[in-house]
Amino acid sequence: MYLLFLDESGTHGASPVFVLAGVAVHENDVWRLGQKIETGLHKVLTPLGMNAFDFELHGSEMKSPPTRRNSPWKALIYTDRLKALDVAYRSIRTFVPTDPAFPMAFFGAVIERRRPDFAEHAYELILNKFDDMLGDVSRTSGNQQRGVVVHDDGVIEHSVQSWTSQWMQAAGRVGQIHNIVVVPLFANSRATRLLQAADLVCYSLWRYYANTDERYVRELWKLFHSDGTHMHGLIHVCADFARRTCTCPPCVTRLSA
Ligand SMILES: [Zn+2]
Repeated sequence: MYLLFLDESGTHGASPVFVLAGVAVHENDVWRLGQKIETGLHKVLTPLGMNAFDFELHGSEMKSPPTRRNSPWKALIYTDRLKALDVAYRSIRTFVPTDPAFPMAFFGAVIERRRPDFAEHAYELILNKFDDMLGDVSRTSGNQQRGVVVHDDGVIEHSVQSWTSQWMQAAGRVGQIHNIVVVPLFANSRATRLLQAADLVCYSLWRYYANTDERYVRELWKLFHSDGTHMHGLIHVCADFARRTCTCPPCVTRLSA
């Protein structure tokens, strides 16, 4: 079984894009990846006299802690916060799965917010791509894999649950899902570093697509689900793709398909 941990970025009105993204890991690797992230964070924070258990990984908060709200990251100077962020990204991207037949994979959908159904469309795309990956892994490993989606609990919980139940039963605009058994299970990001990893994947995409800052995503492109040639795990929905002029990695790979 695979668990796909999902989070969102760009939910505020000023953002030009909505990002839904996260990390899919085999059940045998959930604890191991969480521990790897935890260990990296301890290595940065313990020498500073901080307890890593008090800190949640949130990309935007680590870069710019909110002035009006309490954040433990305020106790750190800018360079130490960036160091913690870099170490967290490194912990995730260098993770080695227990069994190479069941690799970790990233998924993401980046959609222009001027599209009225941006959130629903993002979910359809992600669930469809995750479902496809489960089918591919089942075939290549000879071991049937099912999937569970775990989402950071948030304001959209109710609407997502209502329309995903409909979507499970009928063909969506991008296909039908066969291998996902729970959509979605909601959890608090404090409870697992894996939801915080999903936040970091979202943040890396949001920085790139909303701020033309490739720093965080540059080393992550190759981790989005791929068949070795085409990046299936990341979809950018934009007018430039329709005009065939977008030069972002997933659009380039889709145009060459
Ligand atoms: Zn693009």
